[in-house]
Amino acid sequence: MLGGTSESRVLAQALECEAGIDVVTSLAGRVEAPTLPAGTVRVGGFGGVEGLVSWIAAHETDVIVDATHPFAATMTTTASTAASAAGIRLVRLSRPEWVPGLGDTWLPASSVAEAARLVESNFDRAFLTIGRQEVAAFAAVTSTWFLVRSIDTPEGPLPSNHRLELARGPFDAEEETATMRRHRIDVVVSKNSGGAMTEAKLLAARQLGLPVVMIARPPAVSCDVSVESVSEVLCWLRSRDSGAR
Ligand code: NAP
Repeated sequence: MLGGTSESRVLAQALECEAGIDVVTSLAGRVEAPTLPAGTVRVGGFGGVEGLVSWIAAHETDVIVDATHPFAATMTTTASTAASAAGIRLVRLSRPEWVPGLGDTWLPASSVAEAARLVESNFDRAFLTIGRQEVAAFAAVTSTWFLVRSIDTPEGPLPSNHRLELARGPFDAEEETATMRRHRIDVVVSKNSGGAMTEAKLLAARQLGLPVVMIARPPAVSCDVSVESVSEVLCWLRSRDSGAR
């Protein structure tokens, strides 16, 4: 299982009690103190498609569950190519996207770079909650002040006018509303990650009537089965286990 998400941890825990299925969860090793899943864990990149194909052979793997974050596009593409090359099945577990509620103002962005352009031309005080890897796309924006929040220190340069807050979710809507009020935020910038862990910022934006620049997910890649929940992966694995293999 390719992990790094709360869903992958729930799935790893459930599979601990599942007879006949041995699971290894793989983490990229990006977060300094990751929340470790139950069971066997390996850490670090595989070395691209070739490396993953070798790992699959060396560990007699017969299924990959890609439970990585919806924005982990490189790993997801690698998993798809490697599964085809190795002739094994690939299940993609990707949580449902967030959708705007009644009265929400979402400004869609097809990339982080487009989000930076939208913020620069329209807003003064942005709450930037896109993780730590792509904050540098906003570094050249000098006309906007940013509240940057991530779990670990962002990679690369930060915008010149910013405050950095290191924090790990889940957050609640009341806290998020207070944060946005305190910093006089006029726009929230988010990836469309989906999930309950970080949804509170959207509830707070709704409550305050703030617009959200929402960065779209990368395109889906080819897989054998694509599901949105842990229970669907479990069902699929069990049905394979009881005869389809
Ligand atoms: P990425 O850009 O798609 O992947 C870059 C490289 O990191 C991959 O080519 C692979 O290296 C390695 N890698 C990524 N996920 C891995 C995994 N689960 N196990 C082993 N190697 C992995 O990935 P990313 O966006 O940096 O995400 C890294 C991890 O953080 C993933 O596990 C993801 O679920 C988690 N995460 C990402 C985000 C996000 O917004 N992107 C948010 C929360 C959690 P090799 O080519 O050497 O194999």
